[in-house]
Amino acid sequence: MTTTTALPKRSEVKIDDTWNLETIFPTVQEWEAGFSRVSEMLPALAAFSGKLGESGESLLQAFTTRDTALEQLGRLYAYAHMRLDEDTANSTYQALNERITTLYNEVSTTTAYFTPEVLAIPEEKLAAFLAEVPGLDLYRHVLDDINRQRPHVLPSDMEALLALSAEATDAASRAYEMLNYADMKLPPVHDEAGNEVPLTQGNYLAKFLENQNQGVRREAFYAMLGTYQNYSNTLAATLAGQVKRDVFYARARHYPAAVAAALDPNNIPVSVYDSLVSTVAGNLPKLHRYLALRKRLLRLDTLHMYDLYVPMVPEIDYHVSFAEAKRQVAQAMLPLGKDYVDALEQGFGARWIDVYENEGKRSGAYSSGTYGTAPFVLLNYQESMDSMFTLAHEMGHSMHSYFTWQNQTFVYGNYTLFVAEVASTLNEALLTHYLLQNTEDRSLKMYIINHALETFRTTLYRQTLFAEFELEIHRRVEAGEALTAESLSSAYKTLNDKYYGAEVEVDDLIKIEWARIPHFYYNFYVYQYATGISASAALASQIVSEGQPAVERYRRFLASGSSDYSIALLRYAGVDLSTPEPIQQALDTFSHYLDQLESLL
Ligand SMILES: [Zn+2]
Repeated sequence: MTTTTALPKRSEVKIDDTWNLETIFPTVQEWEAGFSRVSEMLPALAAFSGKLGESGESLLQAFTTRDTALEQLGRLYAYAHMRLDEDTANSTYQALNERITTLYNEVSTTTAYFTPEVLAIPEEKLAAFLAEVPGLDLYRHVLDDINRQRPHVLPSDMEALLALSAEATDAASRAYEMLNYADMKLPPVHDEAGNEVPLTQGNYLAKFLENQNQGVRREAFYAMLGTYQNYSNTLAATLAGQVKRDVFYARARHYPAAVAAALDPNNIPVSVYDSLVSTVAGNLPKLHRYLALRKRLLRLDTLHMYDLYVPMVPEIDYHVSFAEAKRQVAQAMLPLGKDYVDALEQGFGARWIDVYENEGKRSGAYSSGTYGTAPFVLLNYQESMDSMFTLAHEMGHSMHSYFTWQNQTFVYGNYTLFVAEVASTLNEALLTHYLLQNTEDRSLKMYIINHALETFRTTLYRQTLFAEFELEIHRRVEAGEALTAESLSSAYKTLNDKYYGAEVEVDDLIKIEWARIPHFYYNFYVYQYATGISASAALASQIVSEGQPAVERYRRFLASGSSDYSIALLRYAGVDLSTPEPIQQALDTFSHYLDQLESLL
C-alpha cells in the first residue's frame, strides 16, 4: 500500500493518465454559462404546470422542455462531481458541486407536478393524444410506465398525507445509521503479531476476516458481532420499524405485499424474486461442495463462519502494468466483436480513464459521465490482478453507456439499476475465461478460479440468503407477528444453518449478523446483485458456447438503454429471469469452476 504522503499532487499527474473532462466543458467559465442557461429555464418549466392535460402538443412540449433542461443539468453535474473527485479538497469544485446539487433539487421540485398531472389525464384521452401527435410517440414507453401506477395512486388529499408522512417514517433508518456509524464503538483486537489494533467497519474484512491466522479472524468476529449483540434490542426495534414502514406504504398503495410494492417501480414481477430464492435453495449442495473444498485447502478440521473469507489458495505475485491490463482486457472482449474492441480501444486512447491515485482523489472505482459526454471511468489502479478486473468491470459499464448513448435519444439514454451490473460483471466473466484459456501457470489458474468462486459465493449465494431473510421478516409483519431481537436472530440463524450447516460449524453469534447489514433498510434491494450476476453468467456462457447469435442479442441489449422494461430487455438478450433457467446456468458455472479447481489440485 502506498501511503498518502508518497502520492503526487493532482497538478503533478501526467495528462495522459487523466480523464479528458475538457471535452464536457473546456473551462469553468463555460460551465458557469451552462449553469445560467439551466437556471433561466426554471420559469418555463414551472409554466407548464396545470397544462399537461390540455392537449397532446402541450404535453409533448412540456416533456421536451424538461428533457432539454435535464440533459444540460446532467452534463453540469457530471463535470462538477468528476472534477471534485480528482481532488476532494479543491474548494472551487466543492462550490460547483454544492451549487449544482441545489439547482438539481430546484428542477426536481419545479417539475414534481409531471407524474401526478399525467395520471390525472384519463387513459382514453392520453391514448388519443398519442394517436394525434406523432412526436409524442417517443414518449410512449415513458407514458406507459407512468400509466402502470394508476391502480396505486391515491386521491390527491391522501397523496399529500403520504408525502407528509415520509419524514416521520424515516426515523427507524436514521436511528439505525446513527447507532451503526456514529455511536457504536468497536473494541480493539489483536493482529497476527499480538499487537492491539483498532477494529473498524472498514478494516473488518480485509485486515481480519481475510487474515491467514485463524485466531485473528476469530477474535475480530466475536468482537464485531458481540458488539452488535449488546445492542440487539435497539437494533431489532429499528429494523422492525423499517419493515413496518415498508408494509404500511405497500398497503396504503393497494399492493398485495411489501415485496410487490418494492419491485413495481422497475416493473419486476414477484415471480423473479421467488424464482431466485427457490433456485438457489435447490442448489445448496454445490455450495456445500465448495465449503468442503475450502475446509480441505485451508487444512482445517472444522470450518467456522469466520473462515469463509480468507483466500483458500496461496497469494500470487502478479504484477500487471496499466498498459498490459488494457491489452489483456481488450483481448478478453474479442468474443463481443471487433467493433466492440475498437470502441473500447478508442476510449483508452481518448482519455476516458483517470488511472492512478493522487493526493485527495476519491477512493474506489466507478464509471460515470452522462448523455452527450464520454463514459468516463475513475480508477485507483494498483498494478494487480484485482485492479485489472476492476478495469474490465468499469469498462463494462462504460461500454453499456457508450452503445446506449450512440443508439438512444436522451429519453431512454440511461438504464435501470436492475440491469446495470450485467454489462460490468459480464466483462469480468469474459476476462476470467480469457485468462484461464491463456495461462498454463497452475497457481495463477487457481488464483483466478478462486476469484470467480468467491464472486459467486458472495454475490449469488450470500445475497440470496439476505433476500430470503428480507422476504421472511416482511411476511411476518404482514401476518401480524412482532419482530423482536430473538425472532430476528432465530430466523437469521435458521437460514445460515440451511445454507452453511452441512459443512460449517455455524457459530451461534452469526445469528446477529442481520444487524450489521445496512441494505435491510433499502426495501428489497440486494436481490438485484444476485439476479445481475446470474444474468451476466448466463449471457457469458451463451456467448462463449453459442457465438454470433448470442453476441448479437447481447449487443442489442447494450444499445437499448431504458427503451423497454428491464425484464423484457434481458429476455431479448437471451435471459428470462422470470424462469429459473439463468439462475441455474449461473450456478452451473459455479460448479464448473469447482470442477476445474479440483482437477488442478
Ligand atoms: Zn459496477
